[in-house]
Amino acid sequence: MYNEIIDRAMAGIYVHIPFCRSKCYYCGFYSVASFGLKESYIAALCREMELRANYLPERRADTLYFGGGTPSCLSEGEVEVIVGNIREIWDLPDDAECTIEVNPEDVTPDKLACWKNVGFNRLSIGVQSFDDEVLKRINRRHSACQAMEAVEAARKAGFDNVGVDLIIGLPGVGQKDLEREMEIVNQLDISHISVYILSIDSNSVFEKLTQQGKFSPQEDDVLADHYLFVSDYLKSIGFEHYEISNFAKDLKYSRHNTAYWRQQPYLGLGAAAHSFDGESRQWNVAHLKKYIEHLAAGSLDFEREILTDRDKYNEYLMTNLRTMWGIGWRWLSERYPDWWKLSERRLPAYEAEGWMSREGGRIRLTERGWLVSDRIFSELFV
Ligand code: SF4
Repeated sequence: MYNEIIDRAMAGIYVHIPFCRSKCYYCGFYSVASFGLKESYIAALCREMELRANYLPERRADTLYFGGGTPSCLSEGEVEVIVGNIREIWDLPDDAECTIEVNPEDVTPDKLACWKNVGFNRLSIGVQSFDDEVLKRINRRHSACQAMEAVEAARKAGFDNVGVDLIIGLPGVGQKDLEREMEIVNQLDISHISVYILSIDSNSVFEKLTQQGKFSPQEDDVLADHYLFVSDYLKSIGFEHYEISNFAKDLKYSRHNTAYWRQQPYLGLGAAAHSFDGESRQWNVAHLKKYIEHLAAGSLDFEREILTDRDKYNEYLMTNLRTMWGIGWRWLSERYPDWWKLSERRLPAYEAEGWMSREGGRIRLTERGWLVSDRIFSELFV
């Protein structure tokens, strides 16, 4: 199904909130475990908005996404200031998808009311695991019970688009534990689940422990079994596996992320945030103090890269093959005939392995194909 929800031209705004109460051991995202610079950061963020008001065509955004870090650590007043500034500069239509990432321990009635009042209509709750022992092992600050209560409170507060993030491959988690977690998921009133396989991210605590020989990730074949088990389970309870790491019910795909995967333009605001305008990517300095100081002086500290046709071809293949909609091969063969001929030669081998399927004008990876997608992409790239 290639439906109109994901087929329209879109533009998105991402806001990075790089503050956390403590660092989770698996996390390599840019954030600091201190709130000392929060106030000056918000002032800098608002200055960046003024400087970059014209980055998106027509000053309009179809999606807004607060990510982090921990956006839910912002006070109600801070959220109102940031969203209020955004609305003054960009048109956010009534049907815009507005998402905020939240941690379970921050979900209070007052914050829920604030998020709803300023226009957030989608909550993404960072759960990671429904096992208290595992949560302690990865340095999360909440319990499984708090995560379940957060989902319930969000639904009661009127959010009808609530999702959770989970990680598979966490230390000590076996098949039985996973089955228990899936049973809990089945009881939750949620419409979206992101399931990531644990990776050893640079700058994470797990990376350091791995280098010291104190931590080793689970074996690849165990991870593959867990991934396929979770996918089968979630599909059996009504979720669509619409992207390598994402599942949705009732067509509630993440429109914001789907637009990224379809190479739609987006403006990233804040330290370490990335932006894309169709021709170039740019990324803000991943350093809180430098970000704030530059904006205080009226400029933005960032780097930029112009995409070549080769980059665009490779990115199109990679991002679209990660989704259940796959790639439109006729369009590719007309636009990039020589490169497509090179890529196409490899496809029969993937089909023979059960990693790829062709239907109508589209080519998709199967779930088994997604498990070996890094290899497939590296072979298909020109
Ligand atoms: S996972 Fe989220 S809360 Fe944990 S350190 Fe990373 S950004 Fe912060």
